[in-house]
Amino acid sequence: MQGYIIDIKKVRDDDLLVSIITQNRLYTTYRFYGARHSLINIGFKIDFELELSLKSSLPRLKEVLGLGFEWILDTKKLYLWQRFLKLFYPHLKDIEKIDDFYMLELDMLAHKMIKQDTKRAIIETYLNLLFFEGRLNSSALTCFLCEKSIENNFSLVRSFLPTHSYCSYSRDFEGSKIKDLFNARKVISFDDEECGYLWDILMQGF
Ligand SMILES: [Zn+2]
Repeated sequence: MQGYIIDIKKVRDDDLLVSIITQNRLYTTYRFYGARHSLINIGFKIDFELELSLKSSLPRLKEVLGLGFEWILDTKKLYLWQRFLKLFYPHLKDIEKIDDFYMLELDMLAHKMIKQDTKRAIIETYLNLLFFEGRLNSSALTCFLCEKSIENNFSLVRSFLPTHSYCSYSRDFEGSKIKDLFNARKVISFDDEECGYLWDILMQGF
């Protein structure tokens, strides 16, 4: 089986609970001496096997092989990737069966990151996720706080919920840019500094 590690918790000295997102499920597994295993790290893609144990409800993680990315030695890219992957755990942890959308998007993102700017690629993947989950309402932009339509003073808060900048006391964006974001799910019209702002919103959580 293949998947991406999205959470690691230390138990005892060197053992780990390792949560892995795969095509159809999120697994939380037990790995003996996992802390000493260099391939077991947040964001890493691995090939692995699971062994069911009578003593524990958690399957044991075995036969781990690393499936590298072209950019794995680019520490800046890896750091941003890991911060993004971490956010999947609180988002999906209570769902056992998941749609293959998540794994496919991550595979595509890892590929896009070979050439594309990392933050931009990740933000656009996140927009696809919001759209897939039916949380990106592009037809009419209504303020999340006052529930009135937004004609001017466009802004965004956590989960890219649209607001009036005066309602959320947050940054103003040009309406055309916000519409691009919601309709095309692209950040091409945003400059790097604005993308940095979008990135900070995303890092607040899904
Ligand atoms: Zn408002």
